Amino acid sequence: MSLQLGSAARERGIRYFLVSYTDLFGTQRAKLVPAAAIESTCRNGAGFAGFATWLDMSPADADLLAVPDPAGLVQLPWKPEVGWLPADLVMDGAAVEQGPRNILKRLIAQAARAGLQMKTGVEPEFFLTRPDGLEPADTADRQAKPCYDQSALMRHYDVIAEICDAMTALGWQPYQNDHEDANGQFEMNWAYDDALVTADRHAFFKYMARTVAERHGLRATFMPKPFADLTGSGCHAHISLWRDGRNLCADPEDELGLSETGYHFIGGLIHSAEALAALTNPTVNSYKRLNAPRTASGATWAPNTVTYAGNNRTHMIRVPGGGRFEFRLADGAANPYLLQAAILAAGLDGIYNRRDPGRRLDINMYTQGHAVEGVKRLPLNMLDALRALEESPVLNEALGAFIPSYLKLKHEEWGAYCRHLTQWERDTTLDC
Ligand code: ADP
Ligand code: MG
Ligand code: MG
Ligand code: MG
Ligand code: MG
Repeated sequence: MSLQLGSAARERGIRYFLVSYTDLFGTQRAKLVPAAAIESTCRNGAGFAGFATWLDMSPADADLLAVPDPAGLVQLPWKPEVGWLPADLVMDGAAVEQGPRNILKRLIAQAARAGLQMKTGVEPEFFLTRPDGLEPADTADRQAKPCYDQSALMRHYDVIAEICDAMTALGWQPYQNDHEDANGQFEMNWAYDDALVTADRHAFFKYMARTVAERHGLRATFMPKPFADLTGSGCHAHISLWRDGRNLCADPEDELGLSETGYHFIGGLIHSAEALAALTNPTVNSYKRLNAPRTASGATWAPNTVTYAGNNRTHMIRVPGGGRFEFRLADGAANPYLLQAAILAAGLDGIYNRRDPGRRLDINMYTQGHAVEGVKRLPLNMLDALRALEESPVLNEALGAFIPSYLKLKHEEWGAYCRHLTQWERDTTLDC
């Protein structure tokens, strides 16, 4: 394996490798390793002080070793002499339990033992803003309903085409790019694949979009709700399950084309939804996208309720047909590895325990939802989501020691947010 990277470096003109891991908060951390040292790095790992990143470690801990996975190699499209390598985390000779990529690999292996492979596609939405992040970069992008705005899309053609060309060259099979529902917001789509492949590509996509935008004097942000009156950035995931090349979610006899296995998977997502939100909507800001008032475009396109429907975008889960379903809860802040791991954990529980997804609601949930009784609502803030995660036997069992580490760091973040004094408090409380 290490030999392959050494010869790949020589064949492809790679001078340096970015040995990269994603921490619990989704930040990518890397060491830049010269090609001559990559073989020993593959054997021994690149050393990090784990406490210095978001992993719930101690300054007294031993070296954290990032062991690169050669299968994930990506030559930086804008600097091909550098090869990016996703890495798995090892400490004291054992896999780090809270390492996001480690967790996903563990769940994928567990699914494989049951003869199941999850394939997913993600739809990362992002804004192109000025470098300070305060406004969309394109001052002419002002339509009230800006979705698919051809002119606004083409004014950013250079950035979008550069990213899309890179995806084509990398073999990801991108197939469309568009202006989304908020001013300054875009989405780029590529083909679905095995959950680990999608997670690695999703992680790299975020890095690539940010970098390419920066090189064009812009900023790409995946922040879930950067502008209060505009639609936020989701990260929908489309999901199907496979065995021996057969899509286990497809059933042509069913009204929505979905199999019993598919419905049970959805049942699992619905069963654990509030707890899942702590992982798929991981920031304070995430909850300003969910349960939000109508945006300037007319709809938030984000779910408020734990419900599913056919081809209807007002619910948490949409079944568009074709033996797959769409999970619309996650947002741009979701850690690419934890997103897939959380979906897989909840979905496998649904299959193993034959969870019933309940009633399909073929209504406009935004306008008619209030009339439906017995429907679960999504958490109103990060604290509610963290508490739901804390109390979820399903996710605690599936994700193990990761959960207390994650909760500890996220509760600290919630505490920091609560200590923050806002202008809103002054406006509403100065004259109390
Ligand atoms: P929409 O905006 O209508 O929700 P997009 O075309 O933007 O849909 O994204 C659809 C995503 O679903 C893509 O990533 C695509 O590759 C993925 N996808 C398509 N079919 C499947 C499938 N069978 N299993 C998993 N993902 C799929
Ligand atoms: Mg040092
Ligand atoms: Mg889309
Ligand atoms: Mg979209
Ligand atoms: Mg979608």
